[in-house]
Amino acid sequence: MIPIRTNDEIEKIRRAAELVARTLDLVEDMAEPGVTTAALDREAQKFIESEGARPAFLGYRGFPATLCVSIDDEVVHGIPGDRELSVGMIVSVDVGTVIDDYYGDGARTMAVGAVSADAKRLMRVTQDALAAGIRAAIPGNRVGAIGAAVSAVAEAAGVGVVRALTGHGIGAQMHEPPQIPNFGSPKEGEQIEAGMVFAIEPMLNQGDHEVDFGSDGWTVRTKDGSLSAHFEHTVAVRAEGPEILTRVVHVAHG
Ligand code: MG
Repeated sequence: MIPIRTNDEIEKIRRAAELVARTLDLVEDMAEPGVTTAALDREAQKFIESEGARPAFLGYRGFPATLCVSIDDEVVHGIPGDRELSVGMIVSVDVGTVIDDYYGDGARTMAVGAVSADAKRLMRVTQDALAAGIRAAIPGNRVGAIGAAVSAVAEAAGVGVVRALTGHGIGAQMHEPPQIPNFGSPKEGEQIEAGMVFAIEPMLNQGDHEVDFGSDGWTVRTKDGSLSAHFEHTVAVRAEGPEILTRVVHVAHG
């Protein structure tokens, strides 16, 4: 069963998800040549804890860090360490937070300095694919419509859709039903209803879709060594349509 959230619950998820967006903004500001991935992780953890929240990935099934940091051909789940960023890298940063027992989850691929035209294009296509997937998250559609929309964008651009990992429901736990594959048919999966909350997260490869699961037990890489990009939003399904929760809410004063 896919949980249906009340408005109060969605507001709690929004707090966690907005903190995810602010954390990604902070990391993006820091992502300059010479910075280690461990330094990004330290600052992200400090920031999340200073906001009265908890990093959701730290300790999850034994994951040792606040951020997943995955560089170039690394797809997801890279462990921060003493590796330094350098010009031309693309860095996928994924982070989850928990506030008052509710979860938010989001990811962005960031360019370090000037990157190749191919890298820029892959990042843009992955964002477009995410946007298409989000637009399909409407009441009346089936969950398969999300993956179908993502893969239509990817296939039109000639890039590979990672099939071994999926998006997911989110709310009172980081991973809840349903699984949200980034491929498939709009006729598949459960009916989408208002009040469902999804983490939609296309992982697209410049080359083939196949991945290897790394020897550190976490890092996932493209099998062919090609670049990979990853964008993710936490999205609430509303009667009127999808609402992105991993977004900084600017409050007007005056
Ligand atoms: Mg996720």
